[in-house]
Amino acid sequence: MVKEEQRRDIRKLSLDQLKEFFVSHGDKAFRATQVHEWLWKKSVKDFDQMSNLSLQTRELLKQHFSINHIHVDNMQRSNDGTIKNAVKLHDGLIVESVLIPTENRITACVSSQVGCSLDCKFCATARLKRMRNLNPDEIYDQVVAIKEQSELFFGRPLTNIVFMGMGEPLLNYANVISAIDKITSPKGLNMAAKRLTVSTVGIAKMIIKMADDEVKFNLAVSLHSAVNETRSSIMPINDTNPLEELAEALKYWYSKRKRKVTYEYVVWDGVNDTIEHARALLKFCKIVPCKVNIIEYNKIDEGGYKQASDEALRMYQEPLESHGITTRIRKSRGKDIDAACGQLANKT
Ligand code: SAH
Repeated sequence: MVKEEQRRDIRKLSLDQLKEFFVSHGDKAFRATQVHEWLWKKSVKDFDQMSNLSLQTRELLKQHFSINHIHVDNMQRSNDGTIKNAVKLHDGLIVESVLIPTENRITACVSSQVGCSLDCKFCATARLKRMRNLNPDEIYDQVVAIKEQSELFFGRPLTNIVFMGMGEPLLNYANVISAIDKITSPKGLNMAAKRLTVSTVGIAKMIIKMADDEVKFNLAVSLHSAVNETRSSIMPINDTNPLEELAEALKYWYSKRKRKVTYEYVVWDGVNDTIEHARALLKFCKIVPCKVNIIEYNKIDEGGYKQASDEALRMYQEPLESHGITTRIRKSRGKDIDAACGQLANKT
């Protein structure tokens, strides 16, 4: 009997590796296809749920493997319908994911890392630092949990997925891509890649890699400023990854992907609320076809950041719109339960 701690996470194995396992144990390769379907498409949490396997096969699997399924430790519901899940991982660490219902959509907002290493000055997740990357199955499970909640509480299917929870998806690229492969595969959740958006601080070399990999999902960039000095002061990544490099990467991305990029943008009092900043954004928006989401600042502490006035938001929106750039001013969802952008910090 393999010791508990030596059992492998079975979802780290590819279908081919599972086949090899069964063949080397004197069984048929076909068994792997059955197990793979239970693990991903049916998302079972226990080998005993694999009802078309013999008891003997289930025992063999139990001896060698574990299913490191996530566990929704705490679910909070906002009075606007938003649901926040505190998700416990197999090693006890916690991440958060959010279900955001609107009239036409149900969106899952999922985490890609435990904590974050990027130190954006306005973000609560940054305070947690980065503890580890999430495995593909841990990302996948967050989506499954929200898909189930969507059907249970809203009687509607999950329609969209955004990688806008904790962490920087492009710093956990391989696992994020592997999770997305399963989410979009008919052998997994069979969701359309065009309904998926990966949000990033804008790591240029990874955007180029994504373009080369010909991924089919959408890209959002947390821009927040189109002026290097200002952006560096709120997002330290900009020191080593300045706007010029980001711009080149976005041009390359667009040349391959040919879909609008979304810029996420918060306007703060005294940081980027002047006409010069608005003009800089307008100029940046001419680099590739794009749309802009002006998102409300969610206060995370008593620190220096404060949401700018509605007038400042309109100062941004009007010139962008008059240049044909769709610009939405988005109100926060789930604020009362700390589920809004940048508020995910395992407070519960
Ligand atoms: N690291 C990725 C994924 C996180 S997405 C990224 O930066 O895109 C979380 C989004 O919420 C980002 O656009 C981030 O800039 C924004 N955000 C962070 N803190 C916020 C806050 N306090 N109020 C509003 N938006 C915030």
